[in-house]
Amino acid sequence: MQAQQMKSESAKQVKLRMTTFDELHLIKPILDAVRAEGYDRPTPIQQKTIPHILHGRDILGCAQTGTGKTAAFALPILQLLNANPARNKNIRALILTPTRELAIQIEENIKTYGKHLKLKHIAIFGGVTQGRQTTALQAGIDILIATPGRLLDLMQQGFISLTSLEIFVLDEADRMLDMGFIHDVKKVVSKLPLQRQSLFFSATMPDTIIKLANTILQNPVEVAVTPVSSTVELITQSVYFVDKKDKTNLLIDVLQHTKAPRYLVFTRTKHGADKLVKQLVKAGIQAAAIHGNKSQNARQKALGDFKNNLLRVLIATDIAARGIDIDDLPFVVNYELPTVPETYVHRIGRTGRAGLDGTAISFCDTEELDDLKGIQKLIGFKLPVISNHPYNHKK
Ligand code: AMP
Repeated sequence: MQAQQMKSESAKQVKLRMTTFDELHLIKPILDAVRAEGYDRPTPIQQKTIPHILHGRDILGCAQTGTGKTAAFALPILQLLNANPARNKNIRALILTPTRELAIQIEENIKTYGKHLKLKHIAIFGGVTQGRQTTALQAGIDILIATPGRLLDLMQQGFISLTSLEIFVLDEADRMLDMGFIHDVKKVVSKLPLQRQSLFFSATMPDTIIKLANTILQNPVEVAVTPVSSTVELITQSVYFVDKKDKTNLLIDVLQHTKAPRYLVFTRTKHGADKLVKQLVKAGIQAAAIHGNKSQNARQKALGDFKNNLLRVLIATDIAARGIDIDDLPFVVNYELPTVPETYVHRIGRTGRAGLDGTAISFCDTEELDDLKGIQKLIGFKLPVISNHPYNHKK
C-alpha cells in the first residue's frame, strides 16, 4: 500500500512541477513581469491558489514565507483589479501583514509584478511620519499593504475608506496573533464590506487561527503546502552543545571555519542581539542587529547592507526577522534556541528557499535542553550533534 501511495504522491509532485505560468491563465503584462524575475515555474502554493483566486474564491492557505506565497496572492489580485476599472479613489485591495519589513517587501513584489499595469499601491506602517502615506492615499490607491496599527490610525483620521474594498488578504495570521494584533485584526475586519473576496494565509493552523479564519472567509478553498517537516528536511541541520559563556567564541569559530557569504543569527532578546554585535565587531567581524528598538532606518540599512553583501552577519530577534526576504540565504545560526518549537521552523525557513540548499545550526546550553526536545518532537527527528568543536560541552 505504501508503494502505491508513494507512486501516486510522486505522480502528483511531477504534475505540480510541470505546471507552467502560461497554464495559470495570467495576462501577458503579468507573465512578462514574472519572467523578467527569472521565475521558470509557479511554486506549489502558486499553482494551487492562483486559479481559485482568479475565479473569485476565498482561500484558506497554510504556507510559510519562502514558499512563494506573496506572488500566489499578488499575481491574481493584480489581474482581477486590472480587469475592472476603479469606481472611485477608495482602496480596492487590502493586504494586512504583521510587520513593517513584510509590508515593504510585499509592496516591492507588487511593484515588480505590476510594473506593466497602472495599478497604484502603497505600504503603510508605523514608526515613520504619516505625511507621505496620507498624501499618496488622498491621490487614490488601488492596493494598500498595511500593518494593523497604522491602518486603524489612518482609518480613524479619515484618510482611508474600505467601503469599496474588493479583496482582503490576511497575511501571516499566526504571527498576527503571536504579536498581539488579534483585536486590531478583528476591528479591521468589522469595517470591511461583507461582499468581498478574502484570502487568509498562515504558516500554522492551530484552533485559534481556524476560528479566526471562519469569521473572515466564506466557503474557502483550503490549500496547504510544504508541511513543516518537509520544508525542514531540505535544510541541513545540526546542534552544537556548548556552555552559555562559550557561545560567542563558538560562533566566531564557526564564522572562521565556514564559507557562507551571509549568516543570519538569532538571539532571544534585543539586548542579547546588541551585545553579540559588539563582541563580533570587537573580533573584527562585520555584524549588525535588527530588532524592535532600532529605528526603521537603521533596520532598513542593516537589511540592505546584508542583502548587498556589505555585512556578513545579521543578528535578529524573532519578531524582527519574521518574513524578511533574503534571496539565497545559505546559513542560519540559532545562537539561542527558541522556547516555542514552531519558531525554530520559522527561523530556519529563512534558508533553503526555492529549493536551494541551506544550513541551520543551533547552539544548545544545559538550560536549553528542554527547548531542544520540543523542537525535535515537532520536526520529528533528532538533530545530528556536532561534537568536534573546541567548546564542546559533553552531553
Ligand atoms: P515568499 O514566500 O513570497 O516570501 O517568496 C519567497 C521567495 O521566492 C521570494 O524571493 C520570491 O521572489 C521567490 N519566488 C516567488 N515565486 C517564485 C517562483 N515561481 N519561482 C522562483 N522564485 C519565486
